[in-house]
Amino acid sequence: MPDLSGKHGLVVGVANRRSIAWAVAQAAGAAGARLALTYQGERLEDNVRELSEKLDAPLVMPLDVTSDEQIADVAGALDREFGGLDFLLHGAAFAPKAELDNPFVQTSREGFRIALDVSAYSLIALTRSVAPLMERRGGGSVVTLTYLGSQRVFTNYNVMGVAKAALEASVRYLAGDLGPKNIRVNAVSAGPLKTLAAMGIKDFSSIREVYNGRAPLRRNIEVGEVADAALFLLSPQSRGITGEILFVDAGYHVVGI
Ligand code: NAP
Repeated sequence: MPDLSGKHGLVVGVANRRSIAWAVAQAAGAAGARLALTYQGERLEDNVRELSEKLDAPLVMPLDVTSDEQIADVAGALDREFGGLDFLLHGAAFAPKAELDNPFVQTSREGFRIALDVSAYSLIALTRSVAPLMERRGGGSVVTLTYLGSQRVFTNYNVMGVAKAALEASVRYLAGDLGPKNIRVNAVSAGPLKTLAAMGIKDFSSIREVYNGRAPLRRNIEVGEVADAALFLLSPQSRGITGEILFVDAGYHVVGI
């Protein structure tokens, strides 16, 4: 297991114990990292505070990633509490329900804006705000979470697929910008997992059935497998890797007919 002792990390995107971000937080905590966790709005505060106690996380803060003010508040708190930052796990995504229920061609201007703002632009804004904290540590690692719907058509994934395409392109451009500062930016492309966000996608369980039958490993993945891959990318063990999209999907993405 990678050793993250002495490292400090920010984990964004924990909603509940099924969240992928929570699995990554647990893995990073077990590897010795001290963590800051954020929650989106009061609705999730109790959940996230209760979970963070299990990790002894010294910092738990509200963060709506569409708010530049809240992003700046989080960066300020990280500076005071940790004096720098070694890694960021970005696991926030959202699209209005209508955009996932209606045919893609009916995507509204506002739905498109919201999905791209929360799910893609937020990576740029967050990375920019924590980059100076990482520079102070001589570098850092940023990891986000994406899905194959960025490249292929998955019924009902709709504007989220476009947002994930923008997110993955942002990973490459951020990697290009920040590489000279030894800040790496990568993504894990996860297979389908039953989480709150996934439940918003109509017929999500039928996607899981298809993976079960067709993925080279003939099964669905488990969240711990995504967490292990994210941990690798967050840790110095992946120090030569940036701008990469690493698939943890039982191999489904390589299958043709
Ligand atoms: P999740 O537990 O629902 O996590 C998504 C998180 O994003 C939630 O905490 C959610 O909070 C948060 N979020 C939404 N809008 C936000 C905002 N404006 N500011 C801050 N946070 C906001 O679901 P998940 O599946 O673990 O999703 C984590 C990431 O993995 C997402 O990027 C998702 O697209 C990606 N992913 C998931 C799968 C899968 O099959 N589950 C596969 C590949 C990639 P709210 O609950 O308040 O909206």
